[in-house]
Amino acid sequence: MPASTLDQLVSLCKRRGFIFPGSDIYGGLANTWDYGPLGVELKNRVKKEWWKTFVHKRPDMVGLDASILMNPRVWEASGHVSNFNDPLVDCKNCKERFRGDKLLEEKLGVEAAAVLKLDQVQPMLVAEKIPCPACGKVAWTEAKKFNLMFKTQQGVIEGEGSDIYLRPETAQGIFVNFKNILDTMRLRLPFGVAQIGKAFRNEITPGNFTFRTREFEQMEIEYFFDPEKQKWEDIFATWKKDSWNFIVETLGVAKKNLRLRDHEKDELSHYSKGTTDIEYKFPWGWGELCAAAAYRTDFDLTQHEKFSGQELKYTDPDQPDHKIIPHVMEPSFGSDRITLAVLLDTYTEETLANGETRIVMKFDPKIAPVDCAILPLSKKEHLIAKAQDLYKKITQETDLVVDFDVTGSIGKRYRRQDEIGTPKCITVDFGTLGEDEKQGEKDTVTIRDRDTLKQERLPISELIRRLAKP
Ligand code: ATP
Repeated sequence: MPASTLDQLVSLCKRRGFIFPGSDIYGGLANTWDYGPLGVELKNRVKKEWWKTFVHKRPDMVGLDASILMNPRVWEASGHVSNFNDPLVDCKNCKERFRGDKLLEEKLGVEAAAVLKLDQVQPMLVAEKIPCPACGKVAWTEAKKFNLMFKTQQGVIEGEGSDIYLRPETAQGIFVNFKNILDTMRLRLPFGVAQIGKAFRNEITPGNFTFRTREFEQMEIEYFFDPEKQKWEDIFATWKKDSWNFIVETLGVAKKNLRLRDHEKDELSHYSKGTTDIEYKFPWGWGELCAAAAYRTDFDLTQHEKFSGQELKYTDPDQPDHKIIPHVMEPSFGSDRITLAVLLDTYTEETLANGETRIVMKFDPKIAPVDCAILPLSKKEHLIAKAQDLYKKITQETDLVVDFDVTGSIGKRYRRQDEIGTPKCITVDFGTLGEDEKQGEKDTVTIRDRDTLKQERLPISELIRRLAKP
């Protein structure tokens, strides 16, 4: 995947209504992005597939939607107040600030940079002669810890006691609701809780389109188990496989662009005994797509028990004297990053048999933002009316997302649908009306496949069945 792919993709996303720069008419706000009409459909479908796979299709999982704002004690208990830091370096020449480990990562690779200690960052930047991306000088300060949490104030009176954080991860909402869920849902270990929601991190160097932003969305699972009854290594292996399968089989991301990477011992978060990321080959190199599984032990529930004074233990219904704090496996996905990987992975430029080139987004039909487009061959009123009837029929009888496009030549309209990745285009012509036998029989339409470009004539009565089963 050439580096220029990112620029081409950013331009396509804007041109076709997937992703716009945030606050565009005010000159933007750095590294904020808004999902346009097609982007929101795509991202919603990624989230819907995730929810279906990990909540609806599993008897051992339930969902949750907790608040973004939480009691500030949560973040003391979780360790975020003291540990959620990145190494910040200043350029002494131009005063720009950067994340030291990320500058090193670009040169040394993700594995080498991930294990560096804070006091090794500046000497390494100097030894590797890594210049400031803004001014080109090598003049770095010592690295300092920079806390990534967004602080804000709650209520009408500014001052002590009103400081509050925007959550930097969705996970803590699950731990804090563990007792509520246990008391209401008749669950037995092992079971998991899934949540999709916004998270905020004051990233030092956001960038690479939607890869790293300060506001983003996570899809997280906390899977609780009894370590005396199940080996964490087995649960870890199962979640690694399930997370991988979601990305490859459900979303259709190409295996050749993915790899699993185990965190080195020195790289693990303060709570983790083992973490494996799924990485994607982005145009700028390998980068974390999601955490396939992170073993958080009983760290979080133990901390919340201590800080809240509430008992967060599980009693085995078959052994009432067996009371434990469950251990936790966490697969953690970012819906924006995954949507970006899907966009990059499906972006294709092809030369057709007639020498023309086309851009086509080869989305898996499950997540394509538009399922099919209805294209009346001409702007003749009665032809458009027939096509509109078909639009109504499909949207009323199915849950498909249908586009209706009358502008431009049919060739231009096919190109447009290719660029937004619509799997099927349906052309309504004078044959459909029973006015031109050469075009086809009455009440038949042409259906064109995005990938093979094959066109087939079929009766409207069969169309819905065919659309439901690509
Ligand atoms: P990184 O090393 O890239 O900063 P992380 O290890 O801090 O990521 P996690 O805390 O494991 O990330 O968060 C889980 C997932 O949330 C990530 O795999 C990613 O998909 C998503 N995510 C995290 N930070 C961001 C961000 N700033 N912008 C977009 N997505 C993010």
